[in-house]
Amino acid sequence: MAEKFIIPDELKDESNLIGGEWTNAVSGKTYDVKSPVTGEVLASVPLCDSSDVDKAVKAASKVRDFFKDSPVLTRVDLCNRIHDIILERIEIIAQVQTMEQGKPYIAESIPDIEETALLFKDFAEDIVRLETTVFPLKDPDKRGFSVKEGVGVTAVITPWNFPVLIPAEYIAPCMACGNPVVFKPASTTPLSAILFARCIQDALDEMKLPKGIFNILTGPGSVMGLDLVKHPDVNCIAFTGETVTGENICNNAGLTRTIMELGGNGPQIVCEDANLEEAAAAAGIGCYLCSGQICCATERILVHKKVHDEFVSLMLKETEKWKLGDPRKEETTVGPLNNEPTALKTEAHLKDAREKGAKILCGGEREHSRPTNLYFQPTVIDEVTRDMLLNREETFGPVAPIITFESDEEAVEIANETGYGLQMAVFTGSLKKCFYYTQKLRTGTIVFNDTTNSWEDLYVPFGGGGGTKSGHGLIATHYTLDSLMYLKSVTIDTAKVK
Ligand code: NDP
Repeated sequence: MAEKFIIPDELKDESNLIGGEWTNAVSGKTYDVKSPVTGEVLASVPLCDSSDVDKAVKAASKVRDFFKDSPVLTRVDLCNRIHDIILERIEIIAQVQTMEQGKPYIAESIPDIEETALLFKDFAEDIVRLETTVFPLKDPDKRGFSVKEGVGVTAVITPWNFPVLIPAEYIAPCMACGNPVVFKPASTTPLSAILFARCIQDALDEMKLPKGIFNILTGPGSVMGLDLVKHPDVNCIAFTGETVTGENICNNAGLTRTIMELGGNGPQIVCEDANLEEAAAAAGIGCYLCSGQICCATERILVHKKVHDEFVSLMLKETEKWKLGDPRKEETTVGPLNNEPTALKTEAHLKDAREKGAKILCGGEREHSRPTNLYFQPTVIDEVTRDMLLNREETFGPVAPIITFESDEEAVEIANETGYGLQMAVFTGSLKKCFYYTQKLRTGTIVFNDTTNSWEDLYVPFGGGGGTKSGHGLIATHYTLDSLMYLKSVTIDTAKVK
C-alpha cells in the first residue's frame, strides 16, 4: 500500500500559479514540506513574499471585470468541469493529503476530496438559482430592482486540518460567482492544495478562460500573509484559522470585506436522560476524527453527574475502537498530529489538567516507537474542571475531557463561558430540553443527539455565533454567495428612456 503514496514530479518545481503560469518564488527561495506520517521531506515549495503576492493580486485584478461579467452558464460549466477533474484525480490528491496532513486515507482523505468535488457541483447549481429583488417605488414611472455581483479579487487563506476541502468552501463559490482568487494554503499542507489548484487551472485552460482567474502562492503566513491581507487590490478576505490569526487579519484588513471562520471549543452535553451508548459513540467521532484537529471537534464532554460513571465506562470502550497508526493503512482511524506545536499544546493542556487534579483514564502520551513523534494516543481524561486549559481553550488533539455538571443551567454556563461558539452538541430525550438549549447556548450551530463533528456544511449554514470569538460570515449554499457577492440596487425612470 505504502508504495502508492508517491509525491508526483509536478510538485517538485514551479509549483505556484500566478497569472496562469506555473512558477517559482521571485526570490527563488523554497522551504521543505515534511510528512508527519514518515518524517521524510515530501517536496520543497516556493517561499513567497510580498513580490509574489503583488504579482498574483495584480494578475487576478486584471481579469476581475472579465470574470465578474462572464456569462453565468460559463461559470457553471467551469465548476462542473472542475468537479469532474477532481474526481478523475481523487486518489493522488487524497494520497498526497494523507502524507502531508496525517489523516487516514480511506476513512478521511478520500471523503474530503469527494466532498470538495461536490462543492463545485453544488455551487454550479446555487449560482443559477440566485434570486434578486424588485423594489416598490413611489413614482409609477420608475422601476426598481437589484442585481448581485461578485465582490472581486478574493484572498483565500486556510488552515492545515482540511487542506483542500476548506479552501474549496470559498473557491467553489468564487468560481461560481466570478471572483478571481489568490489562494494561500497552510504552509504545512501546500501539496494537495497545489494538486487541487492544477485541477482548477486545467479546467480554465480547457475552457480557454483568461489567465489569472485562479492563483496559488505557498509560504508562511507570518512572512507573506499580511502582504496579501493589506494589498489594496484585494476586495475580500476569506479566512479560516485560529481566532488570534483572524483578529490580526481583521486589524489589518481596513475596509476590505472579511469572512472569518475561526476556532471552536465545542462541548458535547450529555443530559441525564440521554441515550448514553449513542452519546459515547458520537463523542468518539467528536474527539478523535482527524486526531481531534477539527474546529467543531468535541473539545469538552459535559456529563450530568447522575450518568457520569456509566458514560465514562462506555467512553473508554468507545476509545478502544479508535486505532492509532499509519494513516495509509485501511484499518487506521487515528493518524499522527499534523505538527509539533499542536502536539506540544495538547501535552501542555493535559499537564495543566493533571496538575490541577484531573485523572487520565487512557492514552495521554505520544507513541515514541512510530516513524515521527506526532502519533498521539486517543485520551480520556476525567475530573476536568472549569479552571483547566482543557475547558477554557481549544486543544486540537485526540482528547476526551470529561466535566461533570448538576443542572442544565450549569451546563449552559460552562458551555458558554469560554467565548467560543461554533458548534455544540446536546444529547437528550426531551423536546423541552432541545428548546431550552437552543435558546440558551451561544453558538452558531447546535446539533441534538449527534456528534459536534456532524457538519453538513454543504447545506446547513455554518459559522460563529453572534458575539462569540468563532468568527463572522457563513459557509453553505447561498449564504457563502451572500458573503462573496454584493447587492447592486438599480432604479430606472421609464419615462426618460425609449
Ligand atoms: P492558523 O490561524 O495558524 O493559520 C491559518 C492560515 O492563516 C494559514 O494559512 C496560516 O499560514 C495563515 N496565517 C498565519 N499567520 C498569518 C498572518 N499574520 N496573516 C495572514 N495569514 C496568516 O490556523 P491553523 O492552520 O493552525 O488551523 C487551526 C485553526 O483553524 C483552529 O483554531 C481551528 O479551530 C480553526 N478552524 C476553523 C474552522 C471553521 O470553519 N471555523 C475550520 C477549520 C479550522 P501558515 O500555515 O503559513 O502559518
